[in-house]
Amino acid sequence: MSIFSHPDFSDHEGVYFASDPETGLKVIIAVHSTARGPAAGGTRFWHYDTDAEAVTDALRLSKAMSYKNAAAELPLGGGKAVIMKPEGTFDRTALFAAYGRAIERLSGSYITAEDVGVTPADMDVIHTQTQCVAGLSTGEAASGDPSPITAEGVFRGLQVGAEHIWGSENLTGKTVAVQGLGHVGYALCEKLHRAGAKLLVADINEEVIAKAVSELSAVKVGVADIHAQEADIFAPCALGGALNAKTVPDMKAKLIAGAANNQLRDDSVMSLIEEKGIIYLPDYVLNAGGIINVAAEVSGEYNQAWVEEKLVGLKATIKTILEVSTAQKISTLRVANQIAEERLKRA
Ligand code: NAD
Repeated sequence: MSIFSHPDFSDHEGVYFASDPETGLKVIIAVHSTARGPAAGGTRFWHYDTDAEAVTDALRLSKAMSYKNAAAELPLGGGKAVIMKPEGTFDRTALFAAYGRAIERLSGSYITAEDVGVTPADMDVIHTQTQCVAGLSTGEAASGDPSPITAEGVFRGLQVGAEHIWGSENLTGKTVAVQGLGHVGYALCEKLHRAGAKLLVADINEEVIAKAVSELSAVKVGVADIHAQEADIFAPCALGGALNAKTVPDMKAKLIAGAANNQLRDDSVMSLIEEKGIIYLPDYVLNAGGIINVAAEVSGEYNQAWVEEKLVGLKATIKTILEVSTAQKISTLRVANQIAEERLKRA
C-alpha cells in the first residue's frame, strides 16, 4: 500500500502508524495540517476489513478536519485517528491507554476527542497518558460528549436550509428521514420532534429505533431505503459515503442536512445532487458543533458564551454558502471549500 500516491493523500503533514501487540492496538493518526494550531479531530474506533480502508478513512477524515476547523474559524489544525477495532475480546482500558501513549509521542501536534465508537470514558483513559485529549468527562474545562452540541449545530444549519428552500425556518409538518440514531442522530431527532417535524428513521441498532418510535413518534424505515423516502429533508447521521451514485438518483428530499462526516462518496457525487436540484449543506460546516465544543475545552476554560458565538457563526456560514452558491451558480460544496481554503491560507 502506497501513501504518497494514495488518491486521498493531500500533502498531509504526517501520517503515523502505531501498534501495541499486547493490547491489540492498531491505529493510524493522520495530521493533515497544523497551520491554524495543533491538529484536532476525533478518534474513530471501528471494525475495518483491511488496513487500506482504515488508511483511506484517516486521510479523508483528517483533511476534512482542516477544512472544518478553518470554516469554523477555530485556532486548530486538522487531524484524525482511526483505531482498527480488534476481533474478539480485548481489554478496552489497556488499549486506550496504549493509544494515549501513541498520541503523547507526537509531542502535541495532535489533539484527540470522541468520534464514532468512542466515549468520554475512553477519553478519560487516554488522559492518564497524555494531555492532548478533550471531550473528557471530568476536570476543570471538561466538555464531555460533544454530540449534543454537534446536533445543535446541525439543527440550526438545517433551519437555514429550510428557510432558503421554503422561506421559513419553521419545520412544523416537514418530514425528515434520519439515517443513524447514534449520539448525534438521536439528539437531532429530539430537536426535530420538538420543532414539529415528522420523523422517518433507520438504524442497524433496533433498540434505538424502538426508542425513537415510542418517544418521538418516529416511523421505522429499512436501512437500505431511508435515503429514498418521500421526505422533505434527508439527514445522514451514520457513517460516511451515504451520498453516492447509487443512492442520490433515488432521493426525493429537497434538502440534505446531516451530521455524518464524508457524506459524499467522492466529490463527483456533488454534480448528481445538483442535477436533481437538491440543496446539500456541506457536512464539515454543518457538523462543526462538536469540534467547537472541543476547542472550548482545549482553550483551558470552557466558555459557554464563546461556544454560542461560534454556533451563531456556523449558521451565518451556512447562510453565506447558500447565498453565494445561488448567486454564482456554483455548488454549495465548492463555496464551502473556497471559504475553508481561504481561511486556511490566511493562517
Ligand atoms: P454513533 O456511533 O453514536 O452513531 C452512529 C449510528 O449510526 C449508530 O447508531 C449506528 O448503529 C448507526 N449506523 C451504522 N451504520 C448504519 C447504517 N448502515 N444505516 C443506518 N444506521 C447505521 O456516532 P455519532 O457520534 O452519532 O456520529 C455520527 C456521525 O456524525 C459520524 O459520521 C461522525 O463522524 C459524525 N460526527 C459526529 C460528531 C460528534 O460530536 N459525535 C461530530 C461531527 C461529526
